[in-house]
Amino acid sequence: MTVISKDIDLAAKILQANEVIAIPTETVYGLAANIYSEDAIKKIYSLKNRPHSNPLIVHVGSINKAEELVESFPEKAKLLAQRFWPGPLTLILQKSPKVPNWITAHKQYVAIRIPHHQKTQELLQKIAFPLAAPSANPFMRISPTSANHCYNYFNEKIELILDGGACKRGIESTIISFHDSFPTILRLGSISIEEIKSEIGEITVHNNIKDEIIAPGMHNKHYSPNTNLILVDDVSPALIASLKAEKIGVLTFNKLISHQKIIKCLRLTKTLNLKEAAKNLYSFLHQLDNINTDIIIAEKVPLSGIGVTINDRLFRASQK
Ligand code: AMP
Ligand code: MG
Repeated sequence: MTVISKDIDLAAKILQANEVIAIPTETVYGLAANIYSEDAIKKIYSLKNRPHSNPLIVHVGSINKAEELVESFPEKAKLLAQRFWPGPLTLILQKSPKVPNWITAHKQYVAIRIPHHQKTQELLQKIAFPLAAPSANPFMRISPTSANHCYNYFNEKIELILDGGACKRGIESTIISFHDSFPTILRLGSISIEEIKSEIGEITVHNNIKDEIIAPGMHNKHYSPNTNLILVDDVSPALIASLKAEKIGVLTFNKLISHQKIIKCLRLTKTLNLKEAAKNLYSFLHQLDNINTDIIIAEKVPLSGIGVTINDRLFRASQK
């Protein structure tokens, strides 16, 4: 049986025995283990069914701890760390020999962040090692933003889910690599491109669906419900009426629409607030995926700030 608990000491004890648990963060829940235990890390890969070519993000409790894991910390990376840590920003920096190759998929660069969640910060203070913590979902599936989502994916397979409530951000971290000290956004995330630019100026975004995949996990299909999802610019009763499907789930930015074929319509925000929309996104996708519908019709959100990330995730959820 998997236990859902708020007990940080118990969580620390299980991690110290080199077992895998689920932990809360402000972005999504993670499947966490000691980065220095090859067995525990192998278990993460097998639980997630994740290809071994796809490296894991290392979670630490302080900037000092992050510095211990890298060869160099370029100036702009430091500015970003000081501004956004603890928070939903992952930096990819040249790794120190201390960092095991099984975390980085044998790359010379390691992905690091300090999560902004009180329980996980307390947990990191209690243990002597950093945690690898990829999102606690099977490969390609919708990320979990609550303890229950983790339970639905991994019941019986892990001992403990550390319950930290609903994730405040609800979307993964923004990943910025510093290959040869040059910053590039590899994955859009909870921190918007504008926020990054306001700290370090212009930055290349290598995340267009068309671009070659250089962050190994950024497949076009990702974050997917089991139910087919179709992404549209604008959802209307006329559009619903025109579809062959008889039982339809609908996800909108702000409007509620009704039609006899709509089983459930969820709106991401009642107040046109993109942050609220991000927080609700995965949770609503889980809800719509768990009712019996033929398809989910999702509507794009406004393309500004975190809206760019939300549309990226909706696009990937719509890929077959
Ligand atoms: P997740 O573990 O599901 O939060 O996804 C983490 C993503 O971080 C992976 O899919 C990779 O794209 C990226 N990543 C982690 N470590 C590295 C690394 N060393 N080099 C490049 N990308 C990385
Ligand atoms: Mg993931």
